[in-house]
Amino acid sequence: MNLMYHSTRNSSLKATASQAILQGLASDGGLYVPEAIPQMTTPIAELARMNYLELAYEVLRLYLTDYSEEEIKGCINKAYDDKFDTPDIAPLKKVGGLHYLELFHGATIAFKDMALSILPHLLTTAARKNNISDEIVILTATSGDTGKAALAGFADVEGTKIIVFYPKDGVSNVQEKQMVTQKGDNTYVIGIRGNFDDAQTGVKKIFGDRDLEKRMSEAGYRFSSANSINIGRLLPQIIYYIYSYLELYRRNEILAEEKINFVVPTGNFGNILAAYYAKQMGLPIEKLICASNDNKVLFDFFKTGVYDRNREFILTISPSMDILISSNLERLIYHIADEDSDKTMELMTALSTTGRYEITSDMRKKLDGFVGGYATVDETMTAIHKVYIETGYVMDTHTAVAASVYAKYLDREKDSAKAIIVSTASPYKFAESVLNAVGIKELPEDDYEQALILREISGIQIPGAMEEIHLADIKHDTVCETDRMRAKVEDILKII
Ligand SMILES: *Cc1c(COP(=O)(O)O)cnc(C)c1O
Repeated sequence: MNLMYHSTRNSSLKATASQAILQGLASDGGLYVPEAIPQMTTPIAELARMNYLELAYEVLRLYLTDYSEEEIKGCINKAYDDKFDTPDIAPLKKVGGLHYLELFHGATIAFKDMALSILPHLLTTAARKNNISDEIVILTATSGDTGKAALAGFADVEGTKIIVFYPKDGVSNVQEKQMVTQKGDNTYVIGIRGNFDDAQTGVKKIFGDRDLEKRMSEAGYRFSSANSINIGRLLPQIIYYIYSYLELYRRNEILAEEKINFVVPTGNFGNILAAYYAKQMGLPIEKLICASNDNKVLFDFFKTGVYDRNREFILTISPSMDILISSNLERLIYHIADEDSDKTMELMTALSTTGRYEITSDMRKKLDGFVGGYATVDETMTAIHKVYIETGYVMDTHTAVAASVYAKYLDREKDSAKAIIVSTASPYKFAESVLNAVGIKELPEDDYEQALILREISGIQIPGAMEEIHLADIKHDTVCETDRMRAKVEDILKII
């Protein structure tokens, strides 16, 4: 029996796993969710004997039921190879009594690589399975890290083109340089005069444009998404939650079935939603601590049950979390509404018309496994400084938001459960802010020279991703207004 997926906004809009991955967004604007979250039946002790790739198969086979074993394993092998700088793929570091799950050992040194190294393979396999001969056009909005990880994943993949929109003034130097130096004849990178939410809204609008879809189809193109609205992004992220739990078990830090907490630096709610899925599958998780920066919409939501994006957008030192519309929250809303797609539709319509919605008290009760927290820019800097002084470990700014939120949580609550702090980027990606935080204020302009200083103080090798952009040529320099995004896509694809 195939596990089917349907839209959060209409339960009768169904798709197989491969169809859902191909489409990205459901045709009614909803997000695909599995009809039922599969249960993990293999005992912990047995799972603990698996390496990352074997565990990946164990998880993905439960969700990708219309893919063959050979297809899934083929995708896994192509994804988690020596693009990662360690065979552990997702190493768990114990520092000062805390555990950091380092998800930045892939090609672009941020956690988006965990899913975006496999998505192109899941997608091209899906196209083959469904006899799709159209060229697939990946349309992506990025707050900085998705863009590069998707470009790296799709560059020169036959039968695909990738178009990335990023906020021109809303990403770090290294993030921008990584994107605009991207090679590959099928890659397009465009800066927009707006913030991430503008880019995301623009992309969703293009996806929903039925007239454009028709003209695309006549020209032999179809859109898909590499954003975390694509279920193919979410599923591979479940793997490392289970993997890191097993790692604690293997190190005798916990007993089998002992509950632990995860602290997740959150923006679009994709990463932490994968943790929620892991929990629903049976992984012993007590609390999911959702860490926001100054854009604390989610903190307020967990506190009040009201989601309200009508507020000032704040640029912080953790730009990948500068988000006011957390797209993936829609999937959680659907689950806590007892899978009621009409209710989800109602709330999402309110969000797009008024920028606000309120959940019912029954729904709020189902959020008790979540704890919301946030850290200001000052608190984030302090966390980096403190951990560096005490342990010598250098965190990136996003990870530091999580570390700060967790420290505040422990001050407030008695909780003896072991915790894993999800580390989403290499400090090299945000070197300037990180160096400022540890107290080095006079910095050279050049990213590479900053990287040399960071190497000096951290003792960590400069990642290949940094060496790569050091002397690379700029290949993309287009910038446009947000209302020109569709026109840019039409230009690139030469459709009239
Ligand atoms: C994308 C990103 C986040 C936020 O993850 P979401 O899935 O959007 O919640 C956090 N940190 C870094 C470094 C990121 O790139």
